[in-house]
Amino acid sequence: MLSQKIDALKDELIAALQESVRIPSVGGDPEEGAPFGPGPRKSLDWTLAFAEKMGFRTKNVENVAGWAEMGEGDEMVAVLGHLDVVPEGKGWTVDPWGGELKNGMIYGRGVLDNKGPVMVGLFAAKAIFDSGVALKRRIRVIFGTNEERGSKCMKRYVEAGEELPAAGFTPDAEYPIIYAEKGILTYTLSLPFAPSGDMKVLSLEGGLAANVVMAEVRTEITDPRPECRKRILDAAAAWKGPEGSSLGASEDVAKQVVTLEMKGHPAHGSTPEKGINALACLADFVNGLRLKGEQGDFFALFSKLIGFETDGASLGIAMKDDVSGSLTACVGVVKLSEGRATFTLNLRYPVTKKETEITAPLLETLANNGITVENVTSADPLYMPPESRLIKALQKAYTDVTGEKAELLAIGGGTYAKTMPNVVAFGPVFPGQTYKIHEEDECWSVEDIMKNAHIMAKVLVELAERK
Ligand SMILES: [Zn+2]
Repeated sequence: MLSQKIDALKDELIAALQESVRIPSVGGDPEEGAPFGPGPRKSLDWTLAFAEKMGFRTKNVENVAGWAEMGEGDEMVAVLGHLDVVPEGKGWTVDPWGGELKNGMIYGRGVLDNKGPVMVGLFAAKAIFDSGVALKRRIRVIFGTNEERGSKCMKRYVEAGEELPAAGFTPDAEYPIIYAEKGILTYTLSLPFAPSGDMKVLSLEGGLAANVVMAEVRTEITDPRPECRKRILDAAAAWKGPEGSSLGASEDVAKQVVTLEMKGHPAHGSTPEKGINALACLADFVNGLRLKGEQGDFFALFSKLIGFETDGASLGIAMKDDVSGSLTACVGVVKLSEGRATFTLNLRYPVTKKETEITAPLLETLANNGITVENVTSADPLYMPPESRLIKALQKAYTDVTGEKAELLAIGGGTYAKTMPNVVAFGPVFPGQTYKIHEEDECWSVEDIMKNAHIMAKVLVELAERK
């Protein structure tokens, strides 16, 4: 009965998703009534109005998030998703804001990440109530508008005292089930960096973000002595780093400057071992130049404490557990300002460890080496026991619909699930699939959309419990 109801809503669901994708909802600068920019606000308004037409009770939470709810009961179970999207970028073969349906696929920025799953959640809930299933708990679809830029939407939802789910899931990652997400600590660290001697570092800049392994770093070194500049150029030509890295060097004779461009390889901050840290390569090279004073000390210390390591061993924080594996360390960004070199260190620690087990030894190492902590942000680990009701319900629904075993996954952390209690990441991407999330031609197949709808409806009934 429920299953037929879902299939009957297919055309309506597809049309609604196409319309949702046609609203460009890239985060932007705050405007009046639109804390995350006009695009996300417009998408929020449209989604709330659409849900209301479907028969949901709705609420706009301070223009940063919204919810749509059906049913009765003291408690509520939730689907958690987001309406904001990353910029469309280049290279599309279709209109990124067209919501085009072609060969069984819907194309568009956000169709999968994450407007599609929000829409599927709404239709799954509607199908449940249309089919007359009586449940003990209410079903709520919660949608934020700042997931791609820090999830401030959900922090606000929680702080504003909005109801928290008794159980829920966020279809904003992958199947089967992510039951463990590492804790995250992101440090901005600094060291004095005054140039001294004849050979001076004028600039040092590299990296894109704290959660991406630094793939490129550029530095300018000046020296009035031509033979010393030649020595740098010769050493650069002879330098051999890890496979996949490369060093470019050029000289501006008039300015007496040698520019070095070191290339490593990017990787996500949760898997730094898959990348090559360009700053580690550069430090390795620069150490051979024997720079004097603080500038030389910086590179030497960097190599000693971090270098190519991605497990925090020399920082004194290497650790692991059976659930989620080893602590990882990612160096993302470096720059010079006001006589200091600053760089970011993004740490992901195992779920069974406490934050202080990392911070205590780390702060001691930093202090002993004259490194200053400029800033730190943290997110606790997430761990939902395999025997919990939530995990059991997700496993059952997944296996019922797909016929596959629902393995539990542990990841480096950082999904929407961390924004509120009793929630884990579940779907929407099946193992082995690539739908170009955050890339050109993002798409989602109608077949998988419907498969997701069947899974979500089953889970929601399971979690909300039949009367
Ligand atoms: Zn997302």
